[in-house]
This record gives sequence, C-alpha cells and structure tokens, in this order.
Amino acid sequence: QHPADSPMSKQAAIPGIAAVIAVASGKGGVGKSTTAINLALGLRDLGLKVGLLDADIYGPSVPRLTGLQEKPQLTPEKKMIPLSRFGLSIMSIGFLVDEDSPMIWRGPMVMSAINQMLRDVAWGTLDVLVVDMPPGTGDAQLTLAQNVPLKGAVIVSTPQDLSLIDARRGLAMFRKVNVPVLGIIENMSYFQCPECGTRSDIFGHGGARHEAERLGVPFLGEIPLHMDIRATSDAGKPLVESEPNGPHAAIYRAIASSVR
Ligand code: ADP
Repeated sequence: QHPADSPMSKQAAIPGIAAVIAVASGKGGVGKSTTAINLALGLRDLGLKVGLLDADIYGPSVPRLTGLQEKPQLTPEKKMIPLSRFGLSIMSIGFLVDEDSPMIWRGPMVMSAINQMLRDVAWGTLDVLVVDMPPGTGDAQLTLAQNVPLKGAVIVSTPQDLSLIDARRGLAMFRKVNVPVLGIIENMSYFQCPECGTRSDIFGHGGARHEAERLGVPFLGEIPLHMDIRATSDAGKPLVESEPNGPHAAIYRAIASSVR
C-alpha cells in the first residue's frame, strides 16, 4: 500500500510538480548536498524543468553552493517566489534564517518549516523537485518521508563501513513508509589526483555497490573524491555547471538519467 492511500497520511501531491525525489544520507558530511545540486543540474541537462529544495535545516548549504542569499519575494497570494539560478528554481531554509544564528529545531518545527517550503512556494510547473534532506534517519526525516509525496529516494554514502551502516538505516526508514529507494550513490568513491589522474581508494572502494547488491536496490554510480568537485561548489558554481564537458559531469548526468 502506498502511504498516500493510508488514512493516517497527510500526504498530498503538490500542484504543478510532477515528481519529487529526495536525496538522503544516514549522516552528515558524506556529500549529500553536493550530490543533490549536481544531480539537479544533471536532470536539467536532460531537458527537464527542475526545482531544488534545500530542506537541510541543520546546515543549509544551497546558499553557499549557489551564491544566492536574498530573501524570496512574495506573490500577491503570499507565496514565496523561489530564487532562480543555473536554470533551476531554488528554495532553501538558508534564505529565510540568518546563517549565523544557531537553530535548535524540534521535530514539529522541522516539519512545519519543510511543509511551508514545499507548499507555500510558487514553484510553478516542474518536472522534478529535488529535495536535499536533512542528514540522518530520525523522526524529522521519517515524518518528511511520510508527508511529502515522493517518487523515490536516492541515498548517498561513502564506501566506509560506518557510512554504509547509516545508509542501511536510511533504506530501512524509506521502506517503512513505502517510499521506493531509487538507488545508492557512492560518493568519495576513490581519490583521483588532479595532477596525474592516479586513482587511490582512500576510504576503501566498492562498499556501496556491494551493499546495494546485497540489499537489492540499484547502484547508481561512483563519484570520485576530486578537488574540482569541492572547489566548484565552494566557488558557488557547482561542477556540472562549471565543467559541463568534463568526466565528472558525465557521471552526474548518467545518474540523473537513471532516476529521472
Ligand atoms: P553533506 O551534505 O552530506 O553534509 P556536503 O555535500 O556539504 O556534505 O559535502 C561535504 C564537503 O565535502 C564539502 O566541502 C564538499 O565540497 C565536499 N565534497 C563532497 N563530495 C565531494 C567529492 N566527490 N569530491 C570532493 N569533495 C567533495
């Protein structure tokens, strides 16, 4: 049974948005936000109309990744107008709160903030909305997965055991609420020296592929740990936008075509 059919569910489709894809990770720092924005850009490159919602209330990174900081304007109906960059419609909790003010969110506050960003935003017509989820598999994430009509979730993990165990929890969480897991992405899969191109498996390699096979979910691809991926993000123009013809952009686009 799909959660939308359950009488307990508050889930309702968002008018104008054909599909919502969540990008999740069991813990922070594995590259979830980097993957989310490059995946959104990859989907854009496939000719889709794409929105990006940064729902990572604990550390919104979209303002840094895009250089956007202005507060969204309101429509006469008091809906927030998403900001626009790289052909994406973008909304982030970071546009609404002061980045330096520490936030302590309790579960219900998280849900109401995320609901507002989903439903009180004039998204217009989108083929796909990519949601950069808060890291972890706690109540906030579970409620979010239950409340948002998700086409599916993509789980980002590094090859390390610890991160894989967290990814496994994420998978279990989505299964619990009947959200299809579109697959696992192995980020920081191997190190590629920007000077000589030599490859080293710093965190071990292939763990996520193996785990995906074991768990019976698609393995979506390996993204290397590469200086350009970090540097382009820090410069506010993520890799797929900065280096569209490079080998890494091709990896993100391949992942985009398998989840579209
Ligand atoms: P999360 O959203 O999981 O907390 P981020 O996407 O913010 O993680 O990534 C954490 C840091 O690692 C950032 O500085 C980011 O630029 C860097 N990073 C992420 N993925 C890669 C990668 N494949 N290669 C190099 N740096 C990366």
